[in-house]
Amino acid sequence: MVMNRIGLWLAGGLIAVSVFVAACSSSDSTSPSGSAGGTAPTADEARRFLDNVNQTMLRLGVEQGTAGWAYSTNINPTTEAENARTNQAYIEAVAKFAKDATRFDKVQLSASERRQMDLLKVALVMVTPADPKQAEELTKITASLEGQYGRGKWCSGGGKPLAPSATTAEAGAAAPPSPKADPCLDVEAITRVMAESRDPKRLRDVWEGWHTISPPMRKDYARFVELANIGARELGFADTGALWRAKYDMPPDAFTAELDRLWNQVRPLYVSLHAYVRMKLREKYGEQVPANGPMPAHLLGNIWAQEWNTVFPLVAPASSSPGYDLTAILKKRNMSPVDMVRSGERFFTSLGFAPLPATFWERSLFTKPADREVVCHASAWDVDLKEDLRIKMCIDQTAEDFTTIHHELGHNFYQRAYMNQPVLFRDSANDGFHEAIGDAIGLSVTPEYLVRIGLLDKAPDASGDIGLLLQQALGKIAFLPFGLLIDQWRWQVFSGQVTPANYNKAWWDLRLKYQGVAPPSPRGEEFFDPGAKYHVPGNYPYTRYFLAHILQFQFHRTLSQAAGCTGPLHRCSIYESKAAGQKLNAMLEMGLSRPWPEALQAMTGSPDMDATAIRDYFAPLQQWLDQQLAGKPTGW
Ligand SMILES: [Zn+2]
Repeated sequence: MVMNRIGLWLAGGLIAVSVFVAACSSSDSTSPSGSAGGTAPTADEARRFLDNVNQTMLRLGVEQGTAGWAYSTNINPTTEAENARTNQAYIEAVAKFAKDATRFDKVQLSASERRQMDLLKVALVMVTPADPKQAEELTKITASLEGQYGRGKWCSGGGKPLAPSATTAEAGAAAPPSPKADPCLDVEAITRVMAESRDPKRLRDVWEGWHTISPPMRKDYARFVELANIGARELGFADTGALWRAKYDMPPDAFTAELDRLWNQVRPLYVSLHAYVRMKLREKYGEQVPANGPMPAHLLGNIWAQEWNTVFPLVAPASSSPGYDLTAILKKRNMSPVDMVRSGERFFTSLGFAPLPATFWERSLFTKPADREVVCHASAWDVDLKEDLRIKMCIDQTAEDFTTIHHELGHNFYQRAYMNQPVLFRDSANDGFHEAIGDAIGLSVTPEYLVRIGLLDKAPDASGDIGLLLQQALGKIAFLPFGLLIDQWRWQVFSGQVTPANYNKAWWDLRLKYQGVAPPSPRGEEFFDPGAKYHVPGNYPYTRYFLAHILQFQFHRTLSQAAGCTGPLHRCSIYESKAAGQKLNAMLEMGLSRPWPEALQAMTGSPDMDATAIRDYFAPLQQWLDQQLAGKPTGW
């Protein structure tokens, strides 16, 4: 993936954009180092090279942003083709630059110039081999893997997919169990069933059904790993996993150890949440859920068991009402989408940031148009990589959208803060930071904030807090081990530590170790269960989501302290704090120009990531979970 495809950030992060095809074309890659007629390149040449890179990436990035916006806000064959074309042009240019950059490996350069060269080399998620035949094969395989996932459907009774129109008729729990009325399910339909059904037999069928889409990918995936590793080695990396880890400003092994350290900081909270949910699911499902072993992966409300929000009704405490209903307030006041975005902007101006440019209000898309198809998934854009900030959202009068607006604007203000950096530095400090900022801002949308902006008369007492914190934990804490293990598996696969002969075993070993979940039935090597998660066949790195989930709480704690908030962290909002705004901006304006520990230090005063902020934030929940679990087994 190229520099996070400059300028586009998605809400929720977990759904990658399909236009982000990481396949780089092959034929025009120049040979690596030392090809320029035997003469050693000079520092002047290196500078001219970087000038050209920055200019070209700006030009192609703006073309791509413009075409991407046109497509996302008006889906038709013309905009789709133009979007694909500009995307491909951008990726090809970066692929070529990345290989050319190796020519200057031994040239003496300033720290900033050297960093730009290094970033260029790790900009791609996959490097195509120089050999045109191998390159072509790799490009075909990546497209095929992505296509196999995209077409993935499960038809109960072993049937073939029906006509396309029948595939969206799934109604989840309400659907009658008769196979006749049970059409083929795509991933959206599967997701709905997993979220809504409480019938363990049906959940197991659907879970096993979805995992039938991936065994055909297994052979392709093994070949993909071989070919991508050849490309990575040509750029000087041990394997593709090492290339991915090289983005993080530390030796690959040190980064792996750092992730384990963070996980161990937060693990006790996860273990408590796991034990509590297991206890409640056992009340619901009986012996199918063990008293002290791993939880069945098909009963957690999500096909990958990666977030458990949808089982909240099964595990909710007796009094889980938050004490106010923001959605009802927005509706009662008939607050328009523009007014909701104005509120979001005021949050940032209250921190000391300049208002959004007039073009933001002219060009953004706030409501779903009636006359054309659009991509409604919320996203934040920086179309000219400078000041042409926009959001694209189909805003409803809901509490969720109100928070999402703050999240998206977090991306926009980050983008504007680093706009004066060289193009190669116009990005977040590492790929976890952008989402973490959006989410950290979202954590400031508290009842106290709603009181201060006049949407709520008075903040509710703490009696509903446990319900809110539990709901949040089912999303953000349950996710952590999953966010970690996807790349643990892939790094081992890329390095050869895990071979095709034990792909599935290694996958389930990791899921047991980190998540404490087990499959509903034995999963031998005839299956390829990692392939049933989009990011594996789609080849999108995943560690960024783990990092974002850790960092957002660290940001929130630091900024809340700067804002002078002394109450419980989950009730702190940084609204109207110029001191918090200054700390925030000190980090944002650095972009990617310095190693991320320095950016982190600019905001928090420490270069280290720290998951104890999560423990602080959820301290009341931890206490409550301990009470519920007194005398009950924990762990697996
Ligand atoms: Zn986002």
